[in-house]
Amino acid sequence: GAVIGILGGGQLGRMLSVAASRLGLRTHIFEPSANPPAADVAHQLTTASYEDHDALRAFAATVDVITYEFENIPTSALDVLESLRPIRPGREALRVSQDRLTEKTYLAELGLKTAPFANVENAEDMEKAVAEIGTPSILKTRRFGYDGKGQSRLKSTEDAAQALADMAGAPAVLEGFVNFSHEVSVIGTRSADGQVACFDPGENVHRDGILHTTTVPARLSAGQRMDAVLMTANILNSLDYVGTMGVELFVTPEGLIVNEIAPRVHNSGHWTQNGCAVDQFEQHIRAVAGWPLGDGKRHSDVVMENLIGDDMERVGEIALETNAALHLYGKADAKPGRKMGHVNRVQVAAKG
Ligand code: ATP
Ligand code: MG
Ligand code: MG
Repeated sequence: GAVIGILGGGQLGRMLSVAASRLGLRTHIFEPSANPPAADVAHQLTTASYEDHDALRAFAATVDVITYEFENIPTSALDVLESLRPIRPGREALRVSQDRLTEKTYLAELGLKTAPFANVENAEDMEKAVAEIGTPSILKTRRFGYDGKGQSRLKSTEDAAQALADMAGAPAVLEGFVNFSHEVSVIGTRSADGQVACFDPGENVHRDGILHTTTVPARLSAGQRMDAVLMTANILNSLDYVGTMGVELFVTPEGLIVNEIAPRVHNSGHWTQNGCAVDQFEQHIRAVAGWPLGDGKRHSDVVMENLIGDDMERVGEIALETNAALHLYGKADAKPGRKMGHVNRVQVAAKG
C-alpha cells in the first residue's frame, strides 16, 4: 500500500494516521519534538528539525505523497520536499494561509466578504489603519497566531499604542470588529480530480480564545447553509486544492463573513468522527492518496466538546455517559490551555 508522509505529529497527525491505517495505508510522521501524540499510531516516525534537509530528503524517499497537520512549515523545508514528492494540499494553499494579510487579500479578491482590514507594520501604519477602520477592532499578528494568541483588542483609539506594542514589532493586520450573532465553520474536501464534498456546517463556541464546542446542525437558514458551502467550494476550487480544509465564518444579518481558512483538518470538524460514516480525516487521506471522496453525509446530530487542561479530571464521568465518544490524544501533562482530547456527544434518534 501507499505511504502517506505527514509533517507534524500532534493530535491532528495522530487522527490522520488512524484514518490512513483504517484504509490499509501507512503513515510516516516527521516531527521535531520527541514523543509526539502521533508517535504510537504512526507506522514510522522521524524526529528531526525542519532545518535538517538530509532528514527531510530521507523522509521523502520513504513516502508516496506528503501532507501536513499545520500550516507553518518553513518555506525552505517545503522547497526541499517539493522537488521530491507531491505536497497535498499544494504550495499555493500554504502561501495564502501562512500570512493573515495574504489570506484576507486573497479571500476578498475572490469576492468573499471579510472584515475590513489593513496592514500594520509600524506606528504610522497603525495610525492610518485606526483612522480607516476605527474601533472596536482587533490587531492580529500576521503569522503564527492560533487559539486567539497574538491578538490585541482595541475598544477605543486610546488602545492603539498598547495594541501595537503587544505585537513586539511583528507585522500585523487591524481588523474591524464584526458584530456577529454566532460563528460557524465548514469543513470541505477536494479530491485530486476536482470533486468537492462539504460536511454540514458546525456552530462554534469559543472560551478564552480556544474552541470549546462545535454543534451540528448549526443555526443557519437554508440559504445561509447553501452560501457557506458555496463559499467553501469557491475557495477549494480557486486554490486547486487537494485535501480537507476548515473555513471559519461569522454569521451576520448582512450575510456570512469569512474569518480565516485552515489548509488542513480542523478542530471544528472533529464531530464528523461520530456524525458521519466518512469523517474529515478519512476524506483528507482519500484526497491526498488520489482516491475518490467518500459520502460525508451527517447521520446524527453531534455536540463536540474539547477537553482542555484540567477538563481531563472529568474523563471518568464522561466515560460513563451514553452515546459519548471519547477521543484522547495520549498527552502526558494537562497544562492549562492544552488540547488533551475531545468528546463527541451523539444525539442518536430513539428507535423502537
Ligand atoms: P484559531 O485557533 O481558530 O486558528 P486564531 O488565533 O487564528 O484562532 P481567529 O480565528 O482569527 O484567531 O480569532 C479567534 C476568535 O476571535 C474568533 O473565532 C472570533 O470569536 C474572534 N474574532 C476574530 N476576529 C474577529 C473580528 N474581526 N470580529 C469579531 N470577532 C473576531
Ligand atoms: Mg487561525
Ligand atoms: Mg480561528
